[in-house]
Amino acid sequence: MSSLTNNFVYQKMIDVFSNKKINFQEAMKLINSADLDFLADCANQITVKFGGDKVDVETLVNAKSGRCPEDCSFCSQSTFNTTKIEKYPLLTPERILAQAEEAKNNGANSFCIVCAYRSPPEQDFIQICNTIKLIKESLDIDVNTSLGFMTRDRALMLKKLGVKRYNHNLETAKSMFDKICTTHSYEDRINTAKIVKEAGLELCSGGIIGMGETIEQRVELGISLQSLNPDEVPVNMLIGREGTPLFNKFSLTEEEIIRTIATFRFLMPRAILKIAGGREVHLKKNDKKVLKAGANGIISGGYLTTKGNKHQEDIRMLKEIGLKQN
Ligand code: SF4
Repeated sequence: MSSLTNNFVYQKMIDVFSNKKINFQEAMKLINSADLDFLADCANQITVKFGGDKVDVETLVNAKSGRCPEDCSFCSQSTFNTTKIEKYPLLTPERILAQAEEAKNNGANSFCIVCAYRSPPEQDFIQICNTIKLIKESLDIDVNTSLGFMTRDRALMLKKLGVKRYNHNLETAKSMFDKICTTHSYEDRINTAKIVKEAGLELCSGGIIGMGETIEQRVELGISLQSLNPDEVPVNMLIGREGTPLFNKFSLTEEEIIRTIATFRFLMPRAILKIAGGREVHLKKNDKKVLKAGANGIISGGYLTTKGNKHQEDIRMLKEIGLKQN
């Protein structure tokens, strides 16, 4: 049985090498294949073929925290949820620059300005643009942003200022979306992802696993992401925060994470596949395994409302497994 499914997994890897797209049915067979190690190894071979041994290491700044008017049930920054997080308005350009400098000194190659908005009010957007200008004039670091819904003009402005990549996650499968958010639609998310690409920005779009979705819905998310052809795909693993409707509701195993990431690698062979929020909680020290199962990116130095590994610790871990920072 296992050698039959291994033949299938091997054949799909060869297909990916020759630029054939994996479809939903094939991805379902991959995610359920009997031999986890073989699946992980083939996913790793795809990563090496298209991306070499480089790992993208990104640092985030939560530049405006909390009080988001949207009702995403997983999110500690939603006004609908009663989480105990530090809430603050948009940080000053100088404060954000100082954090970018710290990220650069710690060796990060990209710095993402993340803000909890549905979309930024005009005054805040202007301040964010001034911040980006200041960072670009002062430092040699890639600047990425995640600011909520975008208009075409705003996306073009970010592109003009030198922003490299824009993050806008699909969060979950379309068939699951109304269970986790009712204040906006899946189409709204897809729309911003498309606007970003049309403006010439690189697209970073991924989601969260462990919110009670089925295996089919994980694959469904992978197929929706594949159709957007993102440059980067962050895979977050839910930490059900106290005060959110998802607190202590669902669990997620290391095996499920590896199967999902490996299958996403078959679906999106050239994307940076990033192990994002929840890495330290769900994988502990086993993030190495996932970086040998299709992933080639990490977020280092903490997340939006949770702490993460120290940067030096992550760089040491990459060296230990023979990978290099991009
Ligand atoms: S839109 Fe973003 S910041 Fe706002 S509640 Fe949803 S996930 Fe959180």
